[in-house]
Amino acid sequence: MRKRSLRRLATIERMQKFGINIPPDCAFCGQYTETFNHLFFECRETSNIWSRVLHWMGFRRQIMNWGTEVQQMSLLARSRGGLAEITSCVFAMVVYMVWQARNYIRFQRCPFHSEVLIKDMVLHLHIRGRDIATWKAILDKLADYPV
Ligand SMILES: [Zn+2]
Repeated sequence: MRKRSLRRLATIERMQKFGINIPPDCAFCGQYTETFNHLFFECRETSNIWSRVLHWMGFRRQIMNWGTEVQQMSLLARSRGGLAEITSCVFAMVVYMVWQARNYIRFQRCPFHSEVLIKDMVLHLHIRGRDIATWKAILDKLADYPV
């Protein structure tokens, strides 16, 4: 995981240090200041997305803070096999899509629907996995959307 480069994403906190004046509230919940840790995954909206997706993949655990989640994903990435690869891929997609959604909400005032984000992610995962032999059996079991 590129933890450092991800941390450099321009959160409001950082932008304010450069004198860029943007409302400091979280784009998703509007209740807390947007910090990196809040976005990933202290915010109830984003933690709910990640929690549903993890649950969908068969993991039964609480969502932790960013550092712990990255650690969990890094540990998993070291093991071989389709599930580890799929989980790493899904984590990267969720992080990317949350960041993208945050930018759409903040800069283009787009409405946000977590269902759309999750469905897009599932679709991308199945497209990506089409030609990967070790993913097939697992993706067949992930035919439904996360609930
Ligand atoms: Zn929030």
